[in-house]
Amino acid sequence: MKSICVFCGSSYGALEAYADIARETGRAIAEQGYTLVYGGAKVGLMGTVADAALAAGGKVIGVLPRSLQDKEIGHEGLSELHLVDSMHERKAMMADLSDAFIALPGGVGTLEEIFEVWTWGQLGYHKKPCGFLNAEGYYDHLIAFLDHQTEQGFTKQVMRDMAQIASSPLDMIRQFENYTPPSAPKWINRDET
Ligand code: AMP
Repeated sequence: MKSICVFCGSSYGALEAYADIARETGRAIAEQGYTLVYGGAKVGLMGTVADAALAAGGKVIGVLPRSLQDKEIGHEGLSELHLVDSMHERKAMMADLSDAFIALPGGVGTLEEIFEVWTWGQLGYHKKPCGFLNAEGYYDHLIAFLDHQTEQGFTKQVMRDMAQIASSPLDMIRQFENYTPPSAPKWINRDET
């Protein structure tokens, strides 16, 4: 594992603790010797995580669609900032550049991004780990719903277990380092119940 991608809010959220966890995450990624890949913005928790990784001497790669350059404001201090033509290109490039994916607290954009890489893993397109950093219990309701989905037979337990859950960035990184992907992608077993 060389690079860790962080998806997180383009806002700060209601609690100061969310910014604290974003700072801790950026710092931990840099201090553990990993490159941070993220959406390239200066705003919200996205800016916070990047600033913290840079301050800790880390390498930070941003990927920002040109159309969002005004709205999300490209970070000028990054090791690399890739400007791309669409959101699809952004997500594909972030996925290619990264070996693992963390969702910090965020909005619908954050969820869309982490669910996309998780479902790609589920389909066997890649074997990279992904997880939710459940700071301040932010993802408690989502985790309960994911368990409900599994109990109701829409998600297999092995797929549910692909998504790591941690309450600190260091725990998440350790889980990634010890991660073993499921041996068979979903569609190989699609007829099994
Ligand atoms: P949010 O979590 O909604 O604050 O957004 C976090 C990041 O996700 C931002 O960089 C947004 O540009 C991005 N984003 C927002 N909506 C979408 C979407 N529908 N698909 C993919 N990314 C999105």
